[in-house]
Amino acid sequence: MSSQVRVRFAPSPTGYLHVGGARTVLFNWLYAKHTGGKFILRIEDTDQDRSTRDAERMQIEDIKWLGFDYDEGPEVEPSGSQTVEPSGSQTVVPSGSQKRGAPGSQKGGPYAPYRQSERLDIYATYAKELLDSGRAYPCFCSDEILDEKRAAAMRLGTVPQYDGTCRKITREEAARRVAAGEKPTMRFKAPVREYKLQDAVRGAVVFPPNMVGDFVVLRSGGMPVYNFCCVVDDHLMEITHVLRAEEHLSNTVRQMMLYETFGWKLPVFAHCSLILGQDRTKLSKRHGATSVHQYAEEGYLPEALKNFLALLGWSSPEHKEILTLDEMIAQFGLERLNKAPSVFDPVKLKWMNGQYIKALPLADVTGRAIPFLERAGIPAKDFDRAWLERAFDTIRGGLETLAGAPKAMEIFSNDEFALEEEARKVRKEAGFAAVAGALREGLAKHEDEKGDAISEAEFQALQEGVKTASGTKGKALFMPMRVALTGQTHGPELKLVVPLLGAKRCLKRVKRVLAHDSV
Ligand code: GLU
Repeated sequence: MSSQVRVRFAPSPTGYLHVGGARTVLFNWLYAKHTGGKFILRIEDTDQDRSTRDAERMQIEDIKWLGFDYDEGPEVEPSGSQTVEPSGSQTVVPSGSQKRGAPGSQKGGPYAPYRQSERLDIYATYAKELLDSGRAYPCFCSDEILDEKRAAAMRLGTVPQYDGTCRKITREEAARRVAAGEKPTMRFKAPVREYKLQDAVRGAVVFPPNMVGDFVVLRSGGMPVYNFCCVVDDHLMEITHVLRAEEHLSNTVRQMMLYETFGWKLPVFAHCSLILGQDRTKLSKRHGATSVHQYAEEGYLPEALKNFLALLGWSSPEHKEILTLDEMIAQFGLERLNKAPSVFDPVKLKWMNGQYIKALPLADVTGRAIPFLERAGIPAKDFDRAWLERAFDTIRGGLETLAGAPKAMEIFSNDEFALEEEARKVRKEAGFAAVAGALREGLAKHEDEKGDAISEAEFQALQEGVKTASGTKGKALFMPMRVALTGQTHGPELKLVVPLLGAKRCLKRVKRVLAHDSV
């Protein structure tokens, strides 16, 4: 028997990838990489009312944006491929010659298909097995009746649970009712006993008897439900470890019952801690961005998001905050998963993102900033790339997200700037005209004698000249110069800014600030 770890991420494609889902992908992926195992992507789309192909595509895009590869999973279909697109009730794509989920060499991986809507014949076989062995039964209770029963249970203050009405229906009667056109669901006969799980994160978890009633495995119409498909697939796909969020614990007990009934070995379960918002309630849209897509749009880097998510419920043995992916892979293990809830701190994420903007290779991070600059109307693609990188390098230290890049880059892109409020005050100060005037003379002379290009050393010499001519030094010298050149009182060092702008643009700026009171 192979001892290779096989883990999976199994999203229901009902929307963008949530940050909680992204953490689940990360933990599974890290565990696969750490152990030299396989990471599988399985699409759980049997809830046809909520699942869409668009959402599947978006989730896969987000997973790829985060930089995760998967060893097995649905492939992006090349045009003209054989795969049948789901539409209405025609979603069943029998796997035909495939031997009920046995590993083979199909497209997507040896356990294909990886989309549950394409595995319906497999589930049908196992559902029949449950029915034939008397472990499941058809249930004819209508939604209205079930709703009434649920409401009655709530009124009594008990946990609503199916009361087993249809357990008593004989096979003959069931067959007659089906022949007459009734469409039953199929319910699993939940054993009434305690279940005990040895969870890799939570330790011993005890599920008392009667926690769940007979639950539906096939909807009326025959579509299988999550808990059932998940067990069949985790078994057939030889999943060894199920790392998922704590919210799934109530599913786990149902799944344990199914494993037991089929006589299948349980995988190792690791239920990861809840992610809470700052107010310690479950993270939701009320707390701000919760989808990976939104973070991408807001200029977060996948490296930073991964680093941040890794520390939600896991910690490095050295308690490091900034970890490379290789460090995470090397150090990740189930034993360091924490069962206490973790709090999603957006301020920390921003800080971390800023650290990554500063630390990533300049060419790479500049390239990633370009779409943000372009979207804000700065034609960054047309700029000389080396110039753009140097300019970006001067501002990246002050950025928290790439979405802040356009504003910060205005120092280079906008010669017609308006003075910031603080800068206006500086401009009104007594010494301003002398410094700005001397700067104008120095720049004009430079342009006359040497042209537009101005080196850092030349600017520093020029600055010395301004100092002497204006009789100022320190802040009284630098602040008026900064205001005259940039309209701001803060920003990157002038000795870096001026060579990037060139003497001509600098001169134009200084003249403009000197000339117009209204600037
Ligand atoms: N499809 C389930 C979900 O998206 C997967 C849960 C699991 O990992 O078993 O929540």
